[in-house]
Parts: sequence; C-alpha cells; structure tokens
Amino acid sequence: MRVEIDKYAGFCFGVTNAIKEAEAYVSEGIYCLGEIVHNAKEEERLIQLGMKTAGHQDLTNLTGKKLLIRAHGEPPETYLKASDAGIDIIDATCPVVLRLQKRIKEKSEENNENQIVIYGKKGHAEVNGLVGQTGGKAIVISNMAEAESLDISKPTFLFSQTTSNYSEYEEIAEYLKKKSADVNGKDDLFTVYQTICPSVKNRIPRLREFCSEHDVIIFVSDYNSSNGKMLFGVCKEANTNSYFITGPEDLNPEWLNSCSSVGISGATSTPLWLMENVKAWIINLLTK
Ligand code: SF4
Repeated sequence: MRVEIDKYAGFCFGVTNAIKEAEAYVSEGIYCLGEIVHNAKEEERLIQLGMKTAGHQDLTNLTGKKLLIRAHGEPPETYLKASDAGIDIIDATCPVVLRLQKRIKEKSEENNENQIVIYGKKGHAEVNGLVGQTGGKAIVISNMAEAESLDISKPTFLFSQTTSNYSEYEEIAEYLKKKSADVNGKDDLFTVYQTICPSVKNRIPRLREFCSEHDVIIFVSDYNSSNGKMLFGVCKEANTNSYFITGPEDLNPEWLNSCSSVGISGATSTPLWLMENVKAWIINLLTK
C-alpha cells in the first residue's frame, strides 16, 4: 500500500510567515487578532506555546502588548484603534493581500462614482479588510444569485477574495461583463481584476493530478477554511473516493478497504505536522 502526502499541500507562504512571527514573539506573550489560521489544531498548538487570542472588542485593554495582524489583513480602523490604545503591532498581512487592499483603495478613491464589488465570503476577515479600504462602501457578493441582483449602471470594478472559487469567479465576471454592456450600451464600464492568489489557483491542476494518481484521497482541513472547502470540491470532482477530515480521529478505516494507494492533501491553512499524523495513523492501521 502506498501512502503519500501531496508535496504541494499545506501552508502557503503568507500563513508560514504569520506562524513564524507568532512563534518569534510567543515568549513575549503575543496576542493574535482573531484565529491565526483557519485550523483549530494549529491554533491550539500555538496557544499551548503561549500565544493568546484577542478580538476587536479587546483592543482597548491591550495597551503595551504585542498584537499580531494575521495574513488575512485588517481594515484601516483596526490600525487606528490599536495605535490609539498604544498597542505594538506585528503586521503579518500577506503581501498578496496588501497589494489587493492597495488596488481596491486606489480604485475606490479614484472616483466617487466607482462601484467596488468583492466576490468573497461575507464576514471573512480578509473581506472585512478589503471592504475597509473603501470606507465600507464596497458590495460583497458570494454567488451568482447576488451577482444577478447587482445594479450595474455605474462604473463597476470586480475583485475577488484571494482564496475564492476560481471557476465561479470566472462565471460571475463573464455574466457581469455582458450585463454591463447590455444595460449601459457599451462595454467599458465594467472591469474585472484577477486577484485569486496564485498559491491557491496553481494548486488546482496539481491537486487534480494528485487525486487521479490515488485510489483514495484523504483531505485534511478545517470546516472554517474557505480554500479548504474549495480545494476539497476539486478533490471530489477528480476522485469520488475523497474524504474530508479535520484530523486522524475522523478517519473511517472502511474508506481504505481494498485500495492500494492513499493520497493525503490539505488546504493552505493545514499544517504539515497534521498531515504527517494522518499518514502515521493510516500506516499504523494497515500494519496491524
Ligand atoms: S493564500 Fe495567498 S494571499 Fe492568502 S495568505 Fe496564502 S499566499 Fe497570502
């Protein structure tokens, strides 16, 4: 039996950087604003090391403390509040997210008429940070039905959360482009930006290939992870024997009956150590 971990799975560079920053300051009692990564087991590991988690409501009580801004980034008002409270910010916003924030801010400020639309998950930390660049004016859409109800009579600029579903974004962009041309009688009032992170997008064809090389796929992630949900959908399409787990305790031995190869993959928020634990659990089961 072959058991293989997908070499492209696991933390992206943005998450790796945020975790390194947390580990570097853990002895100084660093706080992280929100869950450092959408993976409860990695969060737990860092809490065991001494990291604490804070919410926006706690900012006024953290004077003099170190506060980590995670890879998802934050809206400008968070920086203002932290600065007013005398907090020492360790900013681990991913450079890809920072670039996207900057582009959205520029487009929003360029002309008051500009309508900024963000395709992403409402309430997600990254999306909140992006909407914050427009002073709260950006419209967030999460699916085609919401795209269909958009008023597209103004100059409209479409952006995506970095970890969104690529194929749905393409469909929505195509639909809005056509709708804008129909409604406005010209096709230059709608602009789409390709802002899905390459770290996520490039994994899709590689993951499809990996899934086709194994009889069974075990996908390790967390129910809170947007890219985990999306990448697991890719697994299911490529290999119907794909199973989603959060850790070894979710594994059902029956899934492995009469298979000769198992592939283990995960999201950009899945730690390698967790996939290795899953691999060890499977090998242990097979050698019993
Ligand atoms: S998925 Fe991309 S944008 Fe998001 S943290 Fe990772 S590298 Fe940065």
